[in-house]
Amino acid sequence: MKIILFGPPGAGKGTQSRRLSETFGIPQISTGDILRENVKYQTELGKAALAYMEKGELVPDELILRLIKERLCSEDTKAGFILDGFPRTINQAEGLSNLLKEMGIEIDVVINVDVTDAVIIERNIGRRLCSDCQMMYHIEFSPPKKEGICNKCGGGLYQRIDDREDKVRYRIEVYKKETAPVLNFYKGSGLLKVINGIGTEDEINRRILSELDTKGGSKQ
Ligand code: AMP
Repeated sequence: MKIILFGPPGAGKGTQSRRLSETFGIPQISTGDILRENVKYQTELGKAALAYMEKGELVPDELILRLIKERLCSEDTKAGFILDGFPRTINQAEGLSNLLKEMGIEIDVVINVDVTDAVIIERNIGRRLCSDCQMMYHIEFSPPKKEGICNKCGGGLYQRIDDREDKVRYRIEVYKKETAPVLNFYKGSGLLKVINGIGTEDEINRRILSELDTKGGSKQ
């Protein structure tokens, strides 16, 4: 299964991608996670991306396309993958399409997780991440058992700089201007499915799985 999980920041793409990754045994490829790792280890990519990420702006397409090309060439993507947070501009969607053509691969489905602005703000500002394993929490909807500590690995939880309210509002604007038009790119392809992203994690997961079923859920 080759899946693009699409949606605004805080739509629940990260959480749902992780679940799909476990269900189908295919990697979640989150450009945001890869960039944050690079920032953490101060790589050249991390240094180049940091200023954009702190402001809530998109990192230049050229850097993202290079990162994706490298990642899709890894062995573990042969059986499939879930793209989470990519493509985010028309230029990235075109770059991906060219890359996949070269590799002889086709996307099976593009799932757009649809949520309102109010939900995006609520989810983003309450989100907390584990600094070690990247496990995601929400201070109200899915709090850790012990405040500030990851249930899974005991790492410390932190709030992303770009999850502060002013940054979240700015990221929504960026999404509407630069990323939402990507939906039009996929509309004509027949690959696009829209699911309601409001509800519990389990409910949203079931909606996604039922869309994948109609596309042939066991397909690798
Ligand atoms: P995310 O974790 O997906 O919300 O991404 C966090 C930040 O990383 C975004 O606000 C951007 O600055 C950057 N980023 C992640 N994915 C992309 C992408 N596909 N294109 C450009 N910038 C990205």
